[in-house]
Order: sequence, then C-alpha cells, then structure tokens
Amino acid sequence: MTSTTTAALLQKYSVPGPRYTSYPTAPYFHTEFGVTDWADALAASSADRGISLYVHIPFCDSLCYYCGCNMVATRDYQKTQPYLATLDQEMARTALRVDPQRVVRQLHWGGGTPTYLNPDDIRRLMAMMRDHFTLAPDAEISCEVDPRELTREHLVALRECGFNRLSFGVQDMDPDVQQAVNRIQSEFLIRQVLDWSRELGFSSINLDLIVGLPKQTVESFSRTLERVTFWAPDRLAVFGYAHVPWMKKHQNLINESDLPDAATRFGLQQAVNEHLGAAGYINIGLDHFARPEDELVRAQQNKTLWRNFQGYTTQKDSDILAFGASSISQTADVYMQNEKSLKRYQESIAATGFAVERGLKLTRDDQIQREAITRVMCDLELDVAAFGSEWGITFSDYFVDALAELRPLADDGLVQIEAEKISVTPSGRLFLRNIGMCFDRYLKQVASEKPRYSRTA
Ligand code: SF4
Repeated sequence: MTSTTTAALLQKYSVPGPRYTSYPTAPYFHTEFGVTDWADALAASSADRGISLYVHIPFCDSLCYYCGCNMVATRDYQKTQPYLATLDQEMARTALRVDPQRVVRQLHWGGGTPTYLNPDDIRRLMAMMRDHFTLAPDAEISCEVDPRELTREHLVALRECGFNRLSFGVQDMDPDVQQAVNRIQSEFLIRQVLDWSRELGFSSINLDLIVGLPKQTVESFSRTLERVTFWAPDRLAVFGYAHVPWMKKHQNLINESDLPDAATRFGLQQAVNEHLGAAGYINIGLDHFARPEDELVRAQQNKTLWRNFQGYTTQKDSDILAFGASSISQTADVYMQNEKSLKRYQESIAATGFAVERGLKLTRDDQIQREAITRVMCDLELDVAAFGSEWGITFSDYFVDALAELRPLADDGLVQIEAEKISVTPSGRLFLRNIGMCFDRYLKQVASEKPRYSRTA
C-alpha cells in the first residue's frame, strides 16, 4: 500500500473512538452501581484468579498541558499525608474481603506522579501494601517515573521496596515541543536517570512517547526517536495525543494551530514504525513496542495477551484491585471506578472504607463482545470456530452486524474475512480501534446517548 493510500485511509477512518482499555468503555459505567455491588463483586471473585494491585498517586509538581490524567498540580507536599493514610484505610478494608491465600502477581503505581512521594513515603506506602496483601516472590512491580525532580534516592527506595520495572515519561525531546507543552527535560537528565536505573538493577525499562503534540514535525520527532532508540529501553509506548479540551480544560493552554495536521500525524506514525522497526522492536498492537524476547511479544504469539487500563498485559486471569482517587478496579465481570475528586475520595473512605463513584456489571453479551474486541486488538486475528464454541454461539449469526461493518474495512485492505478467521492485515494495524469498533454494540446507540471520544487517527 502506498503512503498516499494510507494517508487517504487515515483521513477516512479518523473518527472519534475508544481505545478499548475496557469494554464496555468507562463512559458507560453508571452511578447506580454502589458499595454493596462492589462488595458483592469482591466476595464473588474466584480464589483461583491472581491479583494485580494498582495505586494512583495524583500529585504532580507542575502541569503538562497535554495531560489527560486525573492529577493535582501542587507544591504543598503536606497534601500527601492524609492521602497516604486514606490509601492505608482503603487497602485494609478491601483486603478483609479478599481471600488471604490469593497472591499478587503484578503491582503498579501510576498517577499523577508516584515519585512525587519522597523516599521515606515510598517505603511507607510499600510497607502498607505488603501488610495488607501477599506479593508473589516473582511479582512484576512497576512504577511510573517523571525524570524531572527525581533523585537517585527515590530510585534506591523503589529498588529496596522490590520494584523491578520502571516506566519513564519522555514524550518528546525537542525543546520547542517541550516548551509548548510545559514539560522541560533535557537529554542529560533522562540519560542520568536511565543510568541510575540500570546501575540499581531494574530489570525492565519502558519509555513513553507521545505523537501529535504541538510543534512536532517528522524531522524533530525523528531526532527524538533516534535518541530514544540509542538509549535502548526494553519497551516503548507511543501514545497518540488526545486533544479533548471539552473534557480537560487545561488543554486549552495548547495553541490548536500548533497541533500537527492529519498528514503530519501520519508522517509521525510512519517515522515511529520505521525507526522502532529498524531498531529491532516489535509492534505489539495499538501503541506498544517491545524487544522480540519480551514477554508481551511471547504472550501475543501464544495468544494470551490481554488489554486493561494499563494497556497491554500478560495478566488476563487477575483481578485488578485499584486504590486511590479515580482508580479503576476490575474483576472477571465487574468494573468499578473510585471517586475522582480527592476530597470526595477521602471523605468516602473515611465514612465507609470504599469510595465507589460508578461501575458496571457486565452482561454475558458484554463479555462476548469484549472478548472479540480483545482478540482482535491483542492477537490481530480471531478464530471464528474456536470463538463460537467457547461462547456457545454461531459467530456469523451473533456478529452479523459486526461482519457487515467490517466489510468496507476488508474492501480497503485493513482486515481479511475468511470462513475460519478474521485477521488484521499489516496495513490494518494502524486502524485497530476502528476494527474493534465494529464489534462494539454500545456505539450503535442513538447519537445523543453516546459519549465523546478522541479521534482514532
Ligand atoms: S507529570 Fe504526568 S500526570 Fe502530571 S501533569 Fe504531567 S502528564 Fe499529567
């Protein structure tokens, strides 16, 4: 396929659409779901499933204008103290409802900026977690790190606490882009934190990049990609900037005329694929790249890859118990999101030990559609007969509408529809969200009931 054709297809398929870190997607969680529903979900969760713990630390030193996270920019460190005490209460209350024999296979701190916490508080928070839950000796323990204001002592504390994976927010190394998004971080700084991390023995390092930021050009971003591949991280996540100022008011601080147009965004995406491919990284799917020996690549080959709120994961059979404001927990058939406002989160935990803002219990249809979307986005193919027998459906009848919607994408060479399987073509990899959308029954609701998403391309 020529680049002109791909550019035309990107334009054609650039529509608002979900990233499918959950299905149904978060805008469909509802507030009738309450504390009792969540307590029931915890009680019903199978003891055979593993546990994945997530903690949200919402504090940041300053505001990046592109930010889409639930965060609070503050220089008042004292705000962390009641928050940590609340996390302790929340974890204690949840742990009472979870079989103590169940082990934690994965633990992740996200934010905001987890390393906003000083080294002593990092140790304190991890001690709380180990008090309430049992971590497997080989658990994946990872933390998101902002290189700015990070000291070697922060990393020493994380390592002492058992963290073995780090994810650094790099985004873009170009000074003009950094200026335009209010996130200044020099090459020296990044190099230094990477050197410290390797010297301290963290076994896996991920770097996050963003395409679609203001002032980005293909040339400038190619320089970022060259620099980043020279640093040789184990994984890279390259997210598309979602400009949604109607949801994130501070994104109005970005000058819209500085945002790359569709052709530049396409060029940026091409540069990503070329540079990372040439450096030996495998594209896992939507936005993740890893070395060929990485377990995410192996999981994709074995068809055990899964997708959740943290992106691609190997932990399909784990419940996510998430703590902190706005965090989202997940059992086999339930999603639950905590209160987003810091104040309401802290008040609710003090009152009941839970801070349920909204949630959703999946129907069997939801689960069937989620599985189809996940298989396409993770395996890049779906075995029609195996899927039908697993769920007790005749695939072509159950997904008659989805197959009809896929047809034009097949005509454009993005998917191949055969009697035995549906597969994403190499050109279709750029359109995974659009392909997933064909299986999404919630998108077929009347326009007035639909949430608004960022654009797919
Ligand atoms: S550091 Fe991360 S969470 Fe904080 S403002 Fe920047 S992008 Fe948002």
